[in-house]
Amino acid sequence: MQVMVTGGAGYIGSHTVKELLRAGYGVTVLDDLSRGNRAVARLLPQAEFVWGDIADRELVGGLLGSRGIAAVLHFAALSIVGESVADPALYYRNNVVKGLALLEAVREAGVPYFIFSSTAAVYGEPVQVPVAEDHPLVPTNPYGATKLAFEEALRWYGAAYGLRYISLRYFNAAGADPEGVLGEDHRPETHLIPVVLQAALGLREAVAVFGTDYPTPDGTCIRDYIHVTDLAAAHVLALEALAAGHPPGVYNLGNERGASVREVIETARRVTGQDFRVVEEARRPGDPAVLVASSQRIKEELGWRPCYGDLATIIQTAWEWYRRQVEA
Ligand code: UDP
Repeated sequence: MQVMVTGGAGYIGSHTVKELLRAGYGVTVLDDLSRGNRAVARLLPQAEFVWGDIADRELVGGLLGSRGIAAVLHFAALSIVGESVADPALYYRNNVVKGLALLEAVREAGVPYFIFSSTAAVYGEPVQVPVAEDHPLVPTNPYGATKLAFEEALRWYGAAYGLRYISLRYFNAAGADPEGVLGEDHRPETHLIPVVLQAALGLREAVAVFGTDYPTPDGTCIRDYIHVTDLAAAHVLALEALAAGHPPGVYNLGNERGASVREVIETARRVTGQDFRVVEEARRPGDPAVLVASSQRIKEELGWRPCYGDLATIIQTAWEWYRRQVEA
């Protein structure tokens, strides 16, 4: 099967491209490199990379038609909570307006399957933990709101036009390809685990803890960290399920275990054997206190099983990749 991966030069997108290639899919990546990493094209030579805009209807329509694409996996989006609070227009433009242009091209070309990169941010502040898919959807930041808006569009496109889609709601993606080919390379980096590892490498003076007065046991936010390769594998499973006639749906992806910011820092100290400075700062706007998944639905319906569920393993894979980048 030929598939198109938008945002395939990004962090989760590139790891998914690698898993798709391993599973035997023909992969065309469409990425505008606004956030992605150009080096991914060299690291994954079996995929074809096209540098362009997902809202370029002519380009996308041409690629979908000429390559006989049967599925689009849509990762191309902005994903930083704080940035979305500061500049919601940027998020609506990229995640909704451009996303809908892509969806229109998909509909026009008659592509049957669509996998969407969604997020736990669609839930907002949890009213019950672990968070299952039927939890109320009340995003607390524009990032979550724009992802939810696209999910809703998919639902209506599915009902009216028969588009077969699966939305995957990721909790906190982390870690790096255990084979060492790919890793997390955001610039600027804002995510906790890479920030902590940069501090462990001496590339940063200190790690800031955003908020120590949350209603959690140690006062810092709790998140459910999931290894990026486990996430990537779930996309292949979802695609196989759709192709086998599975109905459209929405699935959480997390390890069903929470770790606080302080626990991440302590685990990183242990894994890396490095000490680094930690400073306590004010809360970051838009952050819910606790986000922990129930992933029962995807385990039961699609048979998903994480292989790298342990936080120390997640941090270890990221650490190995980071160290190699610095040495290179
Ligand atoms: N965080 C932090 N310091 C940092 C980066 C993140 O204390 O330098 C906290 C952040 O407030 C949140 C958690 O770590 O509670 C995870 O944040 P991240 O940006 O990694 O992912 P998000 O949950 O926003 O998707």
